[in-house]
Amino acid sequence: MTVKPRYRRVVIKVSGEALAGEQGYGIDPAVASFVAREIQQAKEAFGAEIAIVVGGGNIWRGLAGAARGMDRATADYMGMLATVINALALQDALEKIGVETRVQTAIEMRAVAEPYIRRRAIRHLEKGRVVIFAAGTGSPYFSTDTTAALRAAEIEAEVILMAKRGVDGVYDDDPRRNPKARKFERLTFLEMLNLGLGVMDATAASLCMENHLPVIVFNAMDPEGISKILQGEKIGTFIGGEEGCREPLSVPN
Ligand code: UDP
Repeated sequence: MTVKPRYRRVVIKVSGEALAGEQGYGIDPAVASFVAREIQQAKEAFGAEIAIVVGGGNIWRGLAGAARGMDRATADYMGMLATVINALALQDALEKIGVETRVQTAIEMRAVAEPYIRRRAIRHLEKGRVVIFAAGTGSPYFSTDTTAALRAAEIEAEVILMAKRGVDGVYDDDPRRNPKARKFERLTFLEMLNLGLGVMDATAASLCMENHLPVIVFNAMDPEGISKILQGEKIGTFIGGEEGCREPLSVPN
């Protein structure tokens, strides 16, 4: 039996770093299958429509290539290709446990994935498939955070769930290095930008703000994290609060 979720259609942003797990690079199959099981559980319990945007930083970051003298656009295209590798890893992990998926890529690659077609993505979601968006926006100079905001707006998702590695929300300092770092329960996008918290880039933040799309930052390895958020439980850090944003329900402590 499915319970009515707080959010009906969501985009989960899985960063490359989250997929790398403890090793810090490449793909940790244990993390991929953990994330896949979390998604399966959330889908089964709530019947929510789930789309995923994957990052690529565990394999390649355009900015790092440019810093070492590469042409920035070329380095960014390499980053987008890295996200396709991650998308296929996640697809594999999901399909192994029986979750139907489709990968849609912003850079055409017909032998491995469908091209990104908005209406088709929505149709897949309505049919209960998990759609994985690969290759970012298809354009250099953007990030996969911006991709998450863009795709979420396009498919009319109600929230973006940002799965992070090793942190369970947004802090005023790195909690892995500073034990006194304080966690924010909630922030507006403007506060996040003014405080320079580095949660997401300004392009992504402004897209979210303009489209009244809240973001919930949570730990990718939190057991049942996605399900808790879909139930309306307050976990992680909620970013938003601008008019028209759907907030998590408050749950008594
Ligand atoms: N990228 C890009 N355009 C996009 C999305 C991504 O050029 O629309 C490139 C960019 O070089 C970026 C890399 O792909 O560094 C990997 O994405 P990102 O750094 O956002 O991954 P994450 O930090 O989430 O792992």
